[in-house]
Amino acid sequence: MKCSICGRKSEGEFCDYHLLAYRKLKEAYVKWKEATDISWTEYLSEIVKNPFTGEWSKEVAKKLLEDGKDEAK
Ligand SMILES: [Zn+2]
Repeated sequence: MKCSICGRKSEGEFCDYHLLAYRKLKEAYVKWKEATDISWTEYLSEIVKNPFTGEWSKEVAKKLLEDGKDEAK
């Protein structure tokens, strides 16, 4: 399989780099959710807009928004 974001060879939907970024996004979301009642989609939009977000995370967030996946599973 190939990473659906960058096309690198991967075991699953994402390569190691994007998978790591995805896991970090989900972890950070749990913390955000404790503080504010933000939805997954709103959260992803914030990530994409945030200039301090790393490129890997930003690419993952954009991809998830495009796919329209509602919740982190
Ligand atoms: Zn990738």
